[in-house]
Amino acid sequence: FKRVNDSLGHLAGDKLLQTVAVRITETLRATDRVARFGGDEFMVLLPHARQRRDVEDVARKLLAAIEVPVDADGRLISVTPSIGVALFPGDAQSPAELIKHADSAMYLAKSRGRANYQFFDPASVQTAYDALVMESQLVQALERNEFVLHFQPQVRTLDQALIGAEALIRWNHPQQGLLYPDHFIPVAEQQRLMLPLGQWVLREAVRCARRWREAGLSVAPIAVNLSTVQFQSAGFVEAVERVLQEENVPGELLELELSERMLMDDLPDVMHKLARLKALGICIAVDDFGTGYFSLRHLKELPIDKVKIDRSFVQDLPHAQDAAAIARAIIQMAHSLGQSVIAEGVENQQQLDFLATQGCEELQGDLISAPLPAEAFEGWVRRT
Ligand code: C2E
Ligand code: CA
Ligand code: CA
Repeated sequence: FKRVNDSLGHLAGDKLLQTVAVRITETLRATDRVARFGGDEFMVLLPHARQRRDVEDVARKLLAAIEVPVDADGRLISVTPSIGVALFPGDAQSPAELIKHADSAMYLAKSRGRANYQFFDPASVQTAYDALVMESQLVQALERNEFVLHFQPQVRTLDQALIGAEALIRWNHPQQGLLYPDHFIPVAEQQRLMLPLGQWVLREAVRCARRWREAGLSVAPIAVNLSTVQFQSAGFVEAVERVLQEENVPGELLELELSERMLMDDLPDVMHKLARLKALGICIAVDDFGTGYFSLRHLKELPIDKVKIDRSFVQDLPHAQDAAAIARAIIQMAHSLGQSVIAEGVENQQQLDFLATQGCEELQGDLISAPLPAEAFEGWVRRT
């Protein structure tokens, strides 16, 4: 509705509302009530509905009626309604509460992809509402530049010489302070915000890599985490290529971390994408290795440079037999396929010693350094 108003003007917006209003009234019985509640929201009161099924029938009919494209100035516009339902007296004790809960249920419907109806449900309504609030905050955060990258040094196991760094995103939230990716990446992925966010990370990481190189610091490559949505999006490789070109940075300064799951489906397509990334000079690493269902055939056939042993295995080293066996197996397998191995989340000397003995050539973790803001990272590099 907002888009129609903005692009076609208020007259077209009014006509759209009228059309929808007529469709709603035509779907209902004479004894039902309908009113426009404000903006593009309508309220329907079904006094004679006896049970949930009756309401579901009406909701389905409303969806079908409203979804028929509307003719606005000769242009066909599709309307995607979201319906929230609250029942009296089960869901509410007062009219105001009934309206409030129907409203929350509508947010739930919106968060489930729109063009659907949802009944009021206290628990999921809160989560959906939080996600929606976060979605709009995330959009603003991008515009206001509230994201930052922290960098965690990656070192050679033998002498702890710096060989690169992993870029990890944080959100400098105006009210809540520094937020970690587990808080907002899942929301961004659901809401398709992951594409602009991922692009931002890529560009920022590449810029830092260039700045450090110009300053004479040898910290490249910088490893960037990818999300599935990003890797599978159309034009992903071109987008990476464009960033490198625009920032005037060779692909050798960039490493991409892909999780096992991203490499699982559509092997020919994945193969093609990786080959093109490699042709740009980019290093490919498999993140969280051992936690998914990666097929060994994929590991052999895909152009993978590096395998990253997940923190969950590293934390139990060296004493837990199963973790030690898995780490050892990953290292041997990767080496026999000509790939190198990096361990993440190394926190103590015993873990380092075990990994060194097994021939794991690189590592990162709090033992070396926690992820640091760009400036602190620079300072760390200059000191070591
Ligand atoms: P990950 O790729 O497995 O990253 C490693 C996580 O382990 C990071 O958490 C890092 O701060 C933490 N870590 C590093 N060393 C240690 C250690 O010695 N001990 C312990 N306990 N933890 C350690 P973080 O920064 O909270 O990131 C969490 C996840 O969020 C990452 O897991 C990654 O999957 C995702 N992520 C981070 N940045 C990005 C990004 O820019 N894009 C995407 N798509 N995902 C990101
Ligand atoms: Ca990672
Ligand atoms: Ca991990």
